[in-house]
Amino acid sequence: MRQIQKAAVLGSGVMGSGIAAHLANIGIPTLLLDIVPRELIQEEKDKGLTLEDKKVRNRISEEALQKLLKQKPAPLTSKNNLSLIEPGNLEDDLSRLKEADWIIEVVVENLAVKKQLFESVDKHRKQGSIVSSNTSGISVEAMSEGRSEDFRKHFLGTHFFNPPRYLKLLEIIPTKDTDQEVLSFMMEFGENRLGKGVVEAKDTPNFIGNRIGTYGLLITVREMLKGSYSIGEVDSITGPLIGRPKSATFRTLDVVGLDTFIHVANNVYDQVEETEKDVFKVPDFMVKMRENGWLGSKSGQGFFLKQ
Ligand code: NAD
Repeated sequence: MRQIQKAAVLGSGVMGSGIAAHLANIGIPTLLLDIVPRELIQEEKDKGLTLEDKKVRNRISEEALQKLLKQKPAPLTSKNNLSLIEPGNLEDDLSRLKEADWIIEVVVENLAVKKQLFESVDKHRKQGSIVSSNTSGISVEAMSEGRSEDFRKHFLGTHFFNPPRYLKLLEIIPTKDTDQEVLSFMMEFGENRLGKGVVEAKDTPNFIGNRIGTYGLLITVREMLKGSYSIGEVDSITGPLIGRPKSATFRTLDVVGLDTFIHVANNVYDQVEETEKDVFKVPDFMVKMRENGWLGSKSGQGFFLKQ
């Protein structure tokens, strides 16, 4: 009988830390691994510490991850739960993946980065463990190309919505190689242990939620530009006035992260027919904001946030 006694979350950004917090809150010990953030490496260098020293690298990573964990929009309910999350380094701690019954990849929305990570996961996981991706819409099948048979049988998409602790929807996306046992287990586990509303989605660009969500959001922005409305007016109309106090258009983008949103929109843009491309083209002002690093909550500057 399959059980998830321990999980590993790869990537501790907006979603990874939230998913790890959710797992800890339901009592599942979780490894939370990430690469070492550059600014911390610089800080340590400034202090004259050498990065070749493995102990130093691990310490940086641990401090960084603890910091990230505390900042997230999904705070843990108690210190006990926090102790169920063990932070670590994606470079040094991959061999610990064999401890996990479920490995969830939550790194940046980029096929090449994800594929490279899955190659390492394939080498270090234990046979039979479930591996999933939290991608917003990259082809799940494409991510598993080149992987071992056991990996492919146990691989699927598990797409949480932001913030993962509060939003109920969980899309589950099998590939043609996913074992029926793995799919059935995840559907049941998602519903009964994770407490989500689970939907099985096809492996089409951006699946269901984000295909509709990206479409709606970009149409709204286009209408705003055409009608010369302000960002405040749009958020008022698409938020409080229709009974969605927190999830209006631009406030949602601040929470999601503009870099992630643009990756997601470009992913559909690249894959839809010419006739649909206009809708999924990200407006220039958003691209400029991303270039300036105005990404929303994660960078401290966005549509409603000012550094
Ligand atoms: P994020 O930018 O907040 O975090 C990404 C993390 O990946 C960072 O901590 C980064 O250090 C890490 N990472 C690990 N290895 C990396 C590498 N080799 N190169 C670059 N970064 C690396 O992103 P996020 O918003 O948490 O998104 C993560 C995944 O979840 C993406 O696939 C995204 O599409 C998906 N997702 C995001 C949202 C959202 O609202 N933000 C919602 C659902 C799904």
